[in-house]
Amino acid sequence: MRQLETLTRKTNVYLTLIICFMFLVFVADLQFTTEIYMGMLYLIVIMLAMWLPSTKYIIGLAICSSILTSYGYFNSIYNIDYQAYMNSTGIINLGITLTAIWITTAIAYYIKTISVALHTNESIHNAILVASLDPILTIDKNGIIESASKAIEKTFGWTVAELKGKRFDKLLAPSCRAQYSKLFSVHANIATSHLIGRLQGVTALHRVRRDFPCELSINYVHIPELERPIFTAALRDITARKAAEGRMSWLSTHDDLTKIFNRRYFNEHIDMEWKRAIRSRDWLGMIIVDIDFFKNYNDYLGHQSGDTCLQTIALHMQSVVRRTTDFVARYGGEEFVILLPSTDLRGCEQVAENLQDIINGLNIAHPNSPISHKVTVSIGVAAMIPTLGFTYENLIRLADQALYQAKEGGRNRYCVFEE
Ligand code: GH3
Ligand code: MG
Ligand code: MG
Repeated sequence: MRQLETLTRKTNVYLTLIICFMFLVFVADLQFTTEIYMGMLYLIVIMLAMWLPSTKYIIGLAICSSILTSYGYFNSIYNIDYQAYMNSTGIINLGITLTAIWITTAIAYYIKTISVALHTNESIHNAILVASLDPILTIDKNGIIESASKAIEKTFGWTVAELKGKRFDKLLAPSCRAQYSKLFSVHANIATSHLIGRLQGVTALHRVRRDFPCELSINYVHIPELERPIFTAALRDITARKAAEGRMSWLSTHDDLTKIFNRRYFNEHIDMEWKRAIRSRDWLGMIIVDIDFFKNYNDYLGHQSGDTCLQTIALHMQSVVRRTTDFVARYGGEEFVILLPSTDLRGCEQVAENLQDIINGLNIAHPNSPISHKVTVSIGVAAMIPTLGFTYENLIRLADQALYQAKEGGRNRYCVFEE
């Protein structure tokens, strides 16, 4: 852009000067008066004014030059015989000099306006590149980086100067390179390539060889004056977004405190298992576990200890189930559930018994429990072969009723729902 600007300026300036100069010299042949000399001087001054910051200097100088030239003519200050001078040649000379001054002014004004516009454009362009938090690159048809925005340094660890002249695919992990290294060279396919003008997820490569997820969009830029294709590439580091998405997705299925599945996911899961049990006419067992007098535990030892206790119990609940299809979730505050596909009532009872033993074996002190000196649990057990007319809510209800019986029976025990 700057080269273009300099070229425009220089060529036009010199051409204009030469043309006007020759014009005046030609006219001087008729009668070489002082106005002609002064006119030449003014032309040079006006052209030089182009290097001043605003077009108003050019106009100002042109007006001054015209006034001085005319003043000199009408007042004969150039020491020329007034009478002799007031002939048609003198008038023509003055006219030509003024015309040359204003043609030069118009051209100087035009060039200055273009150069200001170009300069402004370039400044805005640069400001955008500097302000952009995402790296933006221009790439030639061989896949070589021509320019890069400042943000590339923070995202990729390379300086702009280091990247210029390097291959673009150097910024991508080896697994992503192949398709992009071909992209720029297959010129014929460029317009139709599915990689152009679309947002792509890629694995980028930092200078210190750390992979990170990136969004990449490559565009083909057609500039008629530039007889070669140019590509722009915008990259966005999405490491933080990916991590946040992963966390959101994990939180939608897990309980943050105990790190086991949450009730929301349990509801989805039991629905799926219920349907599968219907299809295979198989048993589906369920266990609900409730910590006894847990409010007392919190009140006495504090919520922090309560949280730790919940974490410990969740951890050991997972150790009690062995099959990959068994499913443990936190159902509510101090309640947990275990779903046991293909397990009949006897099998579920076995699991409940084991769980009871494990939790008793943990010996977590509960100084405020009316029934024991340690943390105990009450367990409700239910199992059924799903039949039409029943829903999984029926199974949950049965397990809940069994839990109620266990509590009513004095807690620290399991009960099997029996109709
Ligand atoms: P019960 O023997 O009848 O089950 O009585 P309980 O005190 O265990 O049951 P209740 O429903 O009265 O109280 C449950 C308590 O569990 C209330 C609350 O203090 C505690 N709780 C629930 N969620 C959390 C949690 O995330 N962290 C902690 N520390 N405590 C919790
Ligand atoms: Mg409860
Ligand atoms: Mg309880």
